[in-house]
Amino acid sequence: MRDADGSLQGFSEISRDLSGSKESEARYRGLLEAAPDAMVVVDPSGKIVLLNVQAEKRFGYSRDGAAANARVVFGVILGTGVGGGVVVNRQIHDGRNRIAGEWGHNPLPWARADELPGPGCYCGKLGCIETFLSGAGLARDYRVRSGQQRTAVAIAEAAAAGDLLAHECLELYQDRLARSLASIINVLDPDAIVLGGGLSNLTCLYPALPALLKSYTFSADAGTPIMPAMHGDSSGVRGAAWLWPISA
Ligand SMILES: [Zn+2]
Repeated sequence: MRDADGSLQGFSEISRDLSGSKESEARYRGLLEAAPDAMVVVDPSGKIVLLNVQAEKRFGYSRDGAAANARVVFGVILGTGVGGGVVVNRQIHDGRNRIAGEWGHNPLPWARADELPGPGCYCGKLGCIETFLSGAGLARDYRVRSGQQRTAVAIAEAAAAGDLLAHECLELYQDRLARSLASIINVLDPDAIVLGGGLSNLTCLYPALPALLKSYTFSADAGTPIMPAMHGDSSGVRGAAWLWPISA
């Protein structure tokens, strides 16, 4: 449960290993029997998240009382890479070219002069979102400012300990993430955005994002819930977030 900070109120979150063993499958089915109206998001690493749809209805995250089957979710991976996936009506939408959700290789939106043309990306382009929002991107920002090499986790720890440069890097990261997600909201307007991957463990993101998002989305009233998808995923998983059919 991640209800303590209020921003995630009403969501139950359970991570489980779905390695394919009979034991894990039984455990998974047990979870669904315990929460038959749950929505399960599965990422390619095998970790799953159980979202309580009843709680979402109660807290107004559905468009209307019957919208549990009409939900649109954008799942995000922030790790060594930046990926994503679109879920519509509990089904993954992979698209005609099977690249739906590959927002990490769009250019950073509302780029500032000092962000252009941006770092080179392995895909061959410059200034992809992934080059700014991956763990390596955050580490580069800190290295440029401080001359020190630190991981994303160490940067977050340094910021909490009063390191102003680390704090500055995290604020910039939050702003870039908000810009990048706002461009998704303007196109897709999902009911919820689920953050996974190692950098989704940065707890500073969740209180900061709502106000930042509103400064970039077309509607200043946009209140898209942003929530963490997984526990303890620091391995930089890339790819889409998958929705596992409850009836499977
Ligand atoms: Zn790229």
